[in-house]
Amino acid sequence: MTKIESVLLESLAKKYGTPLYIYSKNSLENSFLTLSKGLLPLPHLICFAVKANSNISILKVLNRLGAGMDIVSGGELYRCEKAGVAGERIVFSGIGKTKEEIEYALGYRKTGIFSFNAESLGELELLEELARKKNKIANVSLRFNPDIDAKTHPYVSTGLEQNKFGLAEEEVFQALKKFKNSKSLRVRGVSVHIGSQITTLSPLRDAFKIVKLLKPKFEKTLGYPLSVLDLGGGVGIKYKNETPPSIEDYTDLIKKIFGDGSLGSAKIVLEPGRLLSARAGVLLSRVLYKKSRRKHDFLVTDAAMTELLRPALYESFHEIVAVGKKSSSLKKMDVVGPVCETADFLGKSRNLPSSLKTGDLVAILNSGAYGMSMSSNYNSRPRVAEVLVSGKNAKLIRQRETYAQLTELEEGL
Ligand SMILES: *Cc1c(COP(=O)(O)O)cnc(C)c1O
Repeated sequence: MTKIESVLLESLAKKYGTPLYIYSKNSLENSFLTLSKGLLPLPHLICFAVKANSNISILKVLNRLGAGMDIVSGGELYRCEKAGVAGERIVFSGIGKTKEEIEYALGYRKTGIFSFNAESLGELELLEELARKKNKIANVSLRFNPDIDAKTHPYVSTGLEQNKFGLAEEEVFQALKKFKNSKSLRVRGVSVHIGSQITTLSPLRDAFKIVKLLKPKFEKTLGYPLSVLDLGGGVGIKYKNETPPSIEDYTDLIKKIFGDGSLGSAKIVLEPGRLLSARAGVLLSRVLYKKSRRKHDFLVTDAAMTELLRPALYESFHEIVAVGKKSSSLKKMDVVGPVCETADFLGKSRNLPSSLKTGDLVAILNSGAYGMSMSSNYNSRPRVAEVLVSGKNAKLIRQRETYAQLTELEEGL
C-alpha cells in the first residue's frame, strides 16, 4: 500500500507526522450511499453511530448526504450541534442518560431530537417529568432486548437477557400501558440493537422478525400506529478472514422482512457505525525499533493502544502492511507500541518484510471506526492528528495535541 485515494502516505507522514489517522472521504460516502440506496424504496433514516468516529468533519460529510446521527452522550450531541445536524435526524441511545443530557436533547436547537431510545422504566419516568416541566413532548422508541445471541465478541454482544441493554418483554408492555396516555411522552417506535461486528445474517433475521411481530402488539396496546422501527447498528466488516454479509445482503434482508406492507406508516431507522467508517480509515505509524529475540521479533511502532485500543480490549485483528515496501522475504513479528502494558500490541505474529527498519512506515488498516474515538492520553501521550483525504487533496481535521494541552485543565495546587 502506498496511497489513500490519490495521496501518498509517505507525504502525509512527512507533513503531519505520525502516528496519524487518515480517512478516505470517498470510502465513507460510498458506504453510506450503498446502504441508503439498498434500502429504497423503504422509507428510512440512517443514523451514523457517532461513537464509532466522532470527528466533526466526518459528521459533516455524512450530514451533507442526509445522514442522521445516533448518539450516546451529551458530548456527542454537542458534536452534532457543531456539525450542524438537524434535531429531527438524531436518535439518542444508551442506558444511562443523565438529567442534564436529557434536558440538552429536549431543547436541542429548539426542536428537540427525533427519538430517545429508552432503555429502562426509570429513564422513561425521568423523560416524562423533564419534558412536562419544559412543556415539550419526548418522542420515544422502546429499546427491546430480544434475548438473541449475536454470535460476536462477548464485549460487543448487547441483545442477551444477561446484557445490561434494553427492556425485557414484560417491562416493555408495562411501559406501554403506563405511558400510552401521557401528554409529554409519546412512544412512537421500537428499537433493537443486538450487537456489533455481527458477521452472519441469522441473528439479525431473528431480531427483525421479533420486531415485526411486536409492532402490531405495540399498536394494539397503544391504540395508534408506530412511526419508527429502529433496527440497530450495521453488520460487521472483514478485518481478517470473516465473511460478513455485504451491504446489499443486509438491505435485501430488511426489504424482504419489512417490504411486504407490514411497515405501514413507519420508517426504518438504522444506526450503523463500523459499517460506514471502519474501512475508510488507516492508522499510519513509523517503526521506532526492531528487537530480535531467539523466538520472537518485535516491531516497536510509534502507534500504541492509546491510538487503537481494539487489539488490547477485544483481541481484535487489524491487518498491518508495510508502506511502499516490496514484500521481499517475510518474517513473523509482533507489532507493539511504546505503552507500558503487555496488552499494548497492534498485531501478533504478523508476516512483514524482514527488511523493515527504523523510520519505515506501516499502515494499520480498517481503523476508521472505534479507533480515534476510543483513544486516550494514557502514559501522557498527546492524541494524534486526523486527516481527511478526497482525491488529490488532504485536509487536517484534527490537530495533534501538544504537551501544554495535556496539563491545561490541571491548574490547582
Ligand atoms: C454502538 C452502537 C451502534 C453501532 O454499532 P456498529 O456495530 O458500529 O454499527 C448502534 N446502536 C447502538 C445502540 C450502539 O450502542
